[in-house]
Amino acid sequence: MRMGLTGLCILFVLTSCGNMQYREPARETFLAMDTFMTFTVYGENVEEALAEAKEQVLGLEKLWSVTDTESEIYAVNHSEGRPVEVSRATEELVAFALKMAAETDGALEPTIYPVLTAWGFTTGEYRIPSEEALAALLGRTGYEKAVLTEGGICLPEGMMLDLGAVGKGYAGDLLAELLAEEGVTSALLDIGGNIQAIGRKPDGSEWKVGLRAPYSDAVFGSLMVSDAAVVTSGAYERYFTGEDGKQYGHIIDPDTGYPVENGLLSVTVAAREGKLCDALSTALYVMGAEKAVNFWRERQDFDMILVMEDERVLLTEGIEERFSLDKAYQDWTKEVIRAGFGD
Ligand code: AMP
Ligand code: MG
Repeated sequence: MRMGLTGLCILFVLTSCGNMQYREPARETFLAMDTFMTFTVYGENVEEALAEAKEQVLGLEKLWSVTDTESEIYAVNHSEGRPVEVSRATEELVAFALKMAAETDGALEPTIYPVLTAWGFTTGEYRIPSEEALAALLGRTGYEKAVLTEGGICLPEGMMLDLGAVGKGYAGDLLAELLAEEGVTSALLDIGGNIQAIGRKPDGSEWKVGLRAPYSDAVFGSLMVSDAAVVTSGAYERYFTGEDGKQYGHIIDPDTGYPVENGLLSVTVAAREGKLCDALSTALYVMGAEKAVNFWRERQDFDMILVMEDERVLLTEGIEERFSLDKAYQDWTKEVIRAGFGD
């Protein structure tokens, strides 16, 4: 099954609390959506809530997998132009992905799957497609052509959905909802590198989320959050080196069909909703720094951290006080993006 990333973790949660007066949390690490997930839930008798959360995410994987022949997305992708009835969760996720595709002017392109397949990102059999092949495959993409009907999805023949850029974020929101219903007020979900923080740490302080330096296992900085999601996108999460010696990453520019290459190494988005963070981290990575900054100035309903190839870290003013560069990365340049243009 392939939903998005490999088992590489993008974000680490630094659990240096060490305060023994709080009881041990319930914690489980498991494989789902083609990645490792670790759920940590605090409180009394939370084992059942944790088990339900795990069950929920495995259920969502079954709905959204592009390779599981039993999944709803598989059915949509092989429907040959016929409408397919889907569950509420799938309908909502697809509706959200299409809405974000429109809002990002197609930088998020949920129908990019045929192009990804040509590069081998769906199977691991990597290759550089010819320009002609890519041009032909781009003709089979275009979110505007997907039609949502009451309870169903209709895709023109030859088109395919890939929700890898938004599924884990949306799963985070549904899990946060479920845990809240179960009375959980403090939990931290690592959904394959997407972080969904529920409430605060049991001692009332905020969670410290470590951000992974691109192409490294080190943490370059950290962000303090509560009741929020933190999601990162970057080519370094999955890439291959072509016969030409160049590196090709898994995030595709929907205008060209080629992996994105624009001076950005990673984009981290923090906001309350996981699905917004996930959609935007991918879309802003496609846009590149300049467009991403303009996009943020227009909306300001999220915060972001852009890591540039030239070791600049651009962060929005809303998280200026919450973000800190790690000791080993003090030589990186931190620049704050402000709402006004006078910076
Ligand atoms: P993320 O890790 O959330 O940035 O999602 C990356 C995944 O989304 C890739 O592995 C592909 O499955 C898919 N993808 C690649 N390029 C795009 C794009 N431009 N729009 C939407 N999904 C994409
Ligand atoms: Mg994403």
